[in-house]
Amino acid sequence: MNNKVLIVYTGGTIGMVQDENGSLHPFALDRIIDAVPQLKHCRYDIDSVTLDNIIDSSNMTPSLWVDIAEIIERHYDQYDGFVVLHGTDTMAYTASALSFMFKNLGKPIVLTGSQLPLGMLRSDGRENIICALEVASCRLATIPEVCIFFESHLYRGNRSTKISAENFDAFETYNYPSLAKAGINITFKEHLFLPMPKDKLLVRKVFDRRVAILKLFPGITEPVVRALLSTPDLQGVVLETYGSGNAPTDAWFIDALDDAIRRGIIVLNVTQCKAGAVKMRQYAASCDLDRIGVVGAGDITIEAAITKLMYLLGHYSDDKEHVKLRLGQSLRGELSE
Ligand code: ASP
Repeated sequence: MNNKVLIVYTGGTIGMVQDENGSLHPFALDRIIDAVPQLKHCRYDIDSVTLDNIIDSSNMTPSLWVDIAEIIERHYDQYDGFVVLHGTDTMAYTASALSFMFKNLGKPIVLTGSQLPLGMLRSDGRENIICALEVASCRLATIPEVCIFFESHLYRGNRSTKISAENFDAFETYNYPSLAKAGINITFKEHLFLPMPKDKLLVRKVFDRRVAILKLFPGITEPVVRALLSTPDLQGVVLETYGSGNAPTDAWFIDALDDAIRRGIIVLNVTQCKAGAVKMRQYAASCDLDRIGVVGAGDITIEAAITKLMYLLGHYSDDKEHVKLRLGQSLRGELSE
């Protein structure tokens, strides 16, 4: 019997067509399949489900993450793997969010998309969709992870970042090697996969949106910082710091953060650097952050950090200490311990 893969189509450039003014809009899935005739000769069976509204991924929301997850959950036992067709702009956020939602995942969920629509001659979509399907249906290696396949590489989803609005190799995982490379063959690096879970799949579906990202820059002013931190009902902030987790040592800045933490807001220290990790207290410029209770998030990406914060606050809002503890630990391989 052939392996079976379910495609979940959410939109994105891969399925877009140009309108009369040249702007790109999402289009129906059957047109996408028609654009890849090679799929008629593949050695696996493909079914598909389309979200109620197909979108440019700039319109992605936590409730759509739940819709995607519920489609996969409903069909989990009938399929060997899942391919999510998704716009590239927020693909790393969705991949991170799905990774946290699927506890004890034992099958591959592979997100892919393209920089040029499938209908265009030079589209990168054909290669991406075929390789994503090969990975999701593969009998040789079962990847129990949410991944992104893009331009010859399979990446851990919650380690990924979109790095180019122009190039076909649009994704990278700076702090973790790719999980597989597609050349003449697809070479899997199985020692890098998460372990196969022993327990039953659990899909967890609550996200708390009462969060914000505060990106530091030289010259940032007190009113800006205080305005963000006094957002009504704010529960958590990702603080994008410099280098290995450093921030200004001005008294007003530390006071503003200290005051927010005393009001119960969780502040997570994530570096603006693409590679490397936050190491609190490596420099004097992060000692105050550590002292007032800012949590270090190691080498996590911004995309994984904000989705993990929403996920943990969604499930453990009554136990902030537990949220802080889990923020510093790896849940699904999103940070190095
Ligand atoms: N704006 C598009 C999207 O994210 C870009 C893409 O798919 O590449 O939906």
